Amino acid sequence: MDNKKITNMEVKRKNRNDVFRYICGNGMVSNPDISYALKLSLPTATQITKELIGRGLVEEKGEMDSTGGRRAKAMAVSQNAGKAVGLDITKNHISLILTDLTGSSLKYERIFLPYAAEDAYYPEVSQKLEHFLEDSGCSKEGILGIGISFPGIIDPDDQRVADSHVLGVHDLPFSAVSRFFSYPCHFLNDANAGAYAEGIRSENRDRFFYLSLSNTVGGAVYSNGNPEQGSNFRCGEAGHMTIVPGGKACYCGKCGCLDAYCSARCLTDGKIEEFFERLERRETQAVGLWDLYTSYLALAVNNIHMILDCDVVLGGYVGSCMGEAIQDIRKKVSERNTFAEDGSFIRSCRHKIGAAAFGASLKVIEMFMEQV
Ligand SMILES: [Zn+2]
Repeated sequence: MDNKKITNMEVKRKNRNDVFRYICGNGMVSNPDISYALKLSLPTATQITKELIGRGLVEEKGEMDSTGGRRAKAMAVSQNAGKAVGLDITKNHISLILTDLTGSSLKYERIFLPYAAEDAYYPEVSQKLEHFLEDSGCSKEGILGIGISFPGIIDPDDQRVADSHVLGVHDLPFSAVSRFFSYPCHFLNDANAGAYAEGIRSENRDRFFYLSLSNTVGGAVYSNGNPEQGSNFRCGEAGHMTIVPGGKACYCGKCGCLDAYCSARCLTDGKIEEFFERLERRETQAVGLWDLYTSYLALAVNNIHMILDCDVVLGGYVGSCMGEAIQDIRKKVSERNTFAEDGSFIRSCRHKIGAAAFGASLKVIEMFMEQV
């Protein structure tokens, strides 16, 4: 008897969850739309939307355009139902993004603020976040939480940042960061956040590898709606694969890591967009650097593809800005590939700006949706 009760409750919760997700993902909808798309009876769909309207999560918006017969009531997600913040922390910048429940980005800002291990750093980040929210006109009460993307190994079991070589952080409890913010905080690895942005709202549910090529190189294996974690939360740490035995020194203390050959800094110390402009003009130095860079990158991409047999998405500053230059990588990978593949499994990321911050905010939204 108890089991049956739980099952009924779970079914109700799942239906409610699916309906809310459908409304968030489809803009203006009607009960018949929901009933048809989710294969629920019209009375069930109507009952659930009534409940969601009662809770202030969904609003009535007049009537749908007539498709013949009686016009159906139109509904959409309420603008006051909640918003999420994404915060991406890197060595020299923070990026902030405000996202609504439909997954639309409302405001984005990247601010120069070098990371510092002192206690003064997080209050400053918090202050900048508050200014950002004030400028957006969003009320404090409407914020569901902050997704914090961090360039390091995130250990959710022990609630700590286990390591970040690039920031010089070791064993940092989440609470030592979250105490400076007035909203619930959720921590994600930066490459996982980028992969999340790429995968979560995509129609294509296939597994893929996300290779983040920014001032550091990271990666994530995305499958079944989430980045895989691994035994030590280091799944996909492609930046520290050895690609040249005894090669260039990496910031991690080892030699010959992919990071030492394929970080954005191997191409330029300045703006990456300007590097690609020079490449397009076929400037000798840029062409030489790109040739070397893509040789190492092709090696890494081909190895990743051999192991996982899935698409490889190039993200980060380099992946976002490379445009048609991606063909050079496809060509080199295809030359290396044992199975005569044409390199079309390599693609550029969909979210070109602030992907890690965006992914972190989407994680907060997903968590909210799951408990509706
Ligand atoms: Zn390394």
